[in-house]
Amino acid sequence: MPFSDLGIPPALAHAMVLQGYVLPTPVQAQTVPVALDGKDVLACAQTGSGKTAAYAMVLLAQLTSRTPHKPRQATALVVVPTRELATQVGDTLRTLAQHAGQAARVTVLFGGVSINPQLMGLRGGTDIVVATPGRLLDVVDHRALTLGGVQTLVLDEADRLLDLGFAQELDRIRSLLPARHQSLLYSATFPAAVRAMAQASLHSPVEVNVVAEE
Ligand code: ADP
Ligand code: MG
Repeated sequence: MPFSDLGIPPALAHAMVLQGYVLPTPVQAQTVPVALDGKDVLACAQTGSGKTAAYAMVLLAQLTSRTPHKPRQATALVVVPTRELATQVGDTLRTLAQHAGQAARVTVLFGGVSINPQLMGLRGGTDIVVATPGRLLDVVDHRALTLGGVQTLVLDEADRLLDLGFAQELDRIRSLLPARHQSLLYSATFPAAVRAMAQASLHSPVEVNVVAEE
C-alpha cells in the first residue's frame, strides 16, 4: 500500500517519500486510516516500527481540515515520557510538515530547563504541543496554555509513561481535555497497566497489534 492510500493529503504522502520512505510500515498502514476515520486507536508495536511517523501523519492530516486555533490553545497534544523523546517527536513533526509545505506550529515542552522561554514561546500560538506530563501541567498552571481545544490526544510510549509513575498526571491532563476528543495510544509493550488505562480512557478503540517479524 503506497502512502497515498492512507487517506492523508497528497502533499503529506509526498513528504514521506521525500524523507526516503518507500512504503508505510505495518503500524502506519494499520493505524493511520482508522485514526483519520475519527476512531480511538490502541496500537502495540515494537520499538523501531515507525510509530512516531504514524501519528505524525494523522495529526498533520487532521490539522489541514481544522479551524484555526484560538490563542493559548492547541488542537493536538502528544504526551511522551522523556525530554529526549519530546525533542525527537517535535523534530519529526516539523520536518514532515516542512516537506509537506504545511504551516504547522509545533511546541515542545519538557522539564529540567527554565519554564520562562517555553511560556514565551507559546505567545505566538501553537497547533501541536509535544510535552512531558509534569511540565505540561506546569505550563497549564501558569495559564500559558489551555487544553480545552485539544481534539486529538496521543499517548506515546504509554508503557514507559506508566513505568515512570505518570498515571496521576495523565488523569489530570485528560480531565482538562474536552469531553469529546480522540485518543491514540501507542506502546511498545502491552502490560496489564497499559490495558487498564486504555480500558478506562479510550472509547471503543480499534486495536492494532503488530507482531514482530523474525
Ligand atoms: P518507534 O516509535 O516505533 O520505536 P520510530 O517512530 O522512532 O519507531 O521510527 C523508527 C525509524 O523508522 C526511524 O528512523 C524512522 O525515520 C523510520 N521510519 C518511519 N517510517 C518509516 C517508513 N515508512 N519506512 C521506513 N522507515 C521508516
Ligand atoms: Mg516511539
